Amino acid sequence: MSSVGSGRVIVIGGGLAGCEAAWQAAQLGVPVLLYEMRPRVMTPTHKTGDLAELVCSNSLRSDLIDKPAGLLKEEMRRLGSLIVGCADRAAIPGGGALTVDRTKFAQAVTEAIQDHPHITVVRTAVTDIPDDGPTVIATGPLTHEALAEALRRLIGSDFLYFYDAVSPIVDAETIDFERCFWGARYRDEPAYLNCPMTEEEYRRFWEALTTAERHVPHDFEQIPFFEGCLPIEEMARRGYLTLAYGPLRPTGLRDPRTGRRPFAVVQLRPENAERTMFNLVGFQTTLRWSEQRRVFRLIPGLEHAEFLRFGYIHRNTYVNAPVALRPTYQTKVRDDLFLAGQLTGVEGYIESAAAGLMAGINAARLVRGEPLLVWPRETALGALAHYITTADPKHFAPMNIHFGLLPPLDPPVRPKDRRYRQMAVRALQTLEAFIRRHGLRRGVGKYEGWETGHELSGVAARLRDGGPAPGHGHEDPQAQDDDEDSDETHQEPGRKSTDQVGRHRGGHHAPGDQAEDDASMREPQDGQERRGLGDGHEKLGQVDGPDSLAWMVAPGD
Ligand SMILES: Cc1cc2nc3c(=O)[nH]c(=O)nc-3n(C[C@H](O)[C@H](O)[C@H](O)COP(=O)(O)OP(=O)(O)OC[C@H]3O[C@@H](n4cnc5c(N)ncnc54)[C@H](O)[C@@H]3O)c2cc1C
Repeated sequence: MSSVGSGRVIVIGGGLAGCEAAWQAAQLGVPVLLYEMRPRVMTPTHKTGDLAELVCSNSLRSDLIDKPAGLLKEEMRRLGSLIVGCADRAAIPGGGALTVDRTKFAQAVTEAIQDHPHITVVRTAVTDIPDDGPTVIATGPLTHEALAEALRRLIGSDFLYFYDAVSPIVDAETIDFERCFWGARYRDEPAYLNCPMTEEEYRRFWEALTTAERHVPHDFEQIPFFEGCLPIEEMARRGYLTLAYGPLRPTGLRDPRTGRRPFAVVQLRPENAERTMFNLVGFQTTLRWSEQRRVFRLIPGLEHAEFLRFGYIHRNTYVNAPVALRPTYQTKVRDDLFLAGQLTGVEGYIESAAAGLMAGINAARLVRGEPLLVWPRETALGALAHYITTADPKHFAPMNIHFGLLPPLDPPVRPKDRRYRQMAVRALQTLEAFIRRHGLRRGVGKYEGWETGHELSGVAARLRDGGPAPGHGHEDPQAQDDDEDSDETHQEPGRKSTDQVGRHRGGHHAPGDQAEDDASMREPQDGQERRGLGDGHEKLGQVDGPDSLAWMVAPGD
């Protein structure tokens, strides 16, 4: 491949993703022009002119290697991440979490970027998309309006969103399948896992839902509710039977064990092809996380459910990545235009920086005339890229890292703790083989050598021996457009189902939209809330101040 453009990379946005992208490209010897609009133009949440300002919590979540966010950070360290490196240097005691002094952290990133001989920082708001060579747009959830408009024109107005409404996702292993049945309304298809309710169970659920504690949003988080995308608790408040005639309606469903139609049904939709995670259809919500856990566990079959993602509704600018993006972080419309950070539909500080790392390396490789890379799916980095670019575009919602995104182990491993450790071993072995194979720059990990002593996993061995990892090519060039999706959307013919609520798109609800499941709000969390996530959370001590916004903490994170 010959080199592209002006011999430099433009990065727009000096946040977590933009700084990481700029750093990675510059470390490869490619000149970088980094645009940041602050302090001249501020977002509603940033308070300083520092690069990589943490807008809310000062926790980068777990730093334990067998937790998903810990694994992701370790992979990034081994690829010389600026963001994780600065976080390590600015760390303050945080139990098992990587918690930082936010001022020291942002200043360390700012200095590293400003002092880098290959990076030039320009403090101005970019209002249009440059067309003179490789560009990474990393302008985050609060992207400047003019640029968002330009992006919308380029990608298509249906594929850029300004709000985000997300339903909870539960771990399949924690569902009681004995209490559920497979089926779709009026169709003999195992598209949904149905949790049937008797009237008594429904009443208990309804009472808990209508009295549960909600997250009170900050002013800038205030978004209007749209009829097609109401929080589940808001619908419940409208009347005792509103849900039973709405998203929980049992019509077209018969419980094979009783041969009867249940009083109400909660439908769970598989979130991935492996059916290791399930989405609660139509459960976008503003309930506090502890309340989601308490109330949603009243659903038959979910009594012991563990939540991989909680529901929320919040402000967010992001693209429909399965439609707009390739796993190289190139846009589908332009080979030399990359997206990074929260804009790509990943969720969270560290996920945003991870997307920046991959986009920055690939943008630099494009300039250098080298093949672009797709990270192996067995790594946390690759799993994120894979998920956002292959998820069902109809139901796409931002995603944080969790082990459900990595391919299952074969043969399966139990219990969960052992499984997660083995997934982390496989991820690091695979990453090491990938780094060697592509001659990537190697940084220093915190858990160097942790994965050795374990037999080389099949994928890592194949990569070492020069073959491709199963299921994906690692060198993209342009051939990454094949969106696969296994998720079926069910809708009754000729009828707009009320459980299929539209996500807010472009600041308004798209009426024909079938994004039934996806909802909501960063919840202010106190230390207890964050600690109370169960299974491994207690020991992490990820304490945010009472004003901090809630975060996407996957179980075990
Ligand atoms: C209110 C809020 C709270 C959040 N709290 C957390 C949390 O506690 N934990 C967590 O993990 N995640 C949190 N997130 C989500 C997300 O992880 C962060 O927003 C994260 O900073 C995203 O990284 P980014 O690099 O994509 O965007 P940002 O870090 O926001 O960086 C984008 C940068 O681009 C600049 N910019 C925007 N438009 C332009 C333009 N046109 N020209 C030039 N510069 C521009 C902005 O000034 C900003 O510096 C929060 C998000 C929001 C909105």
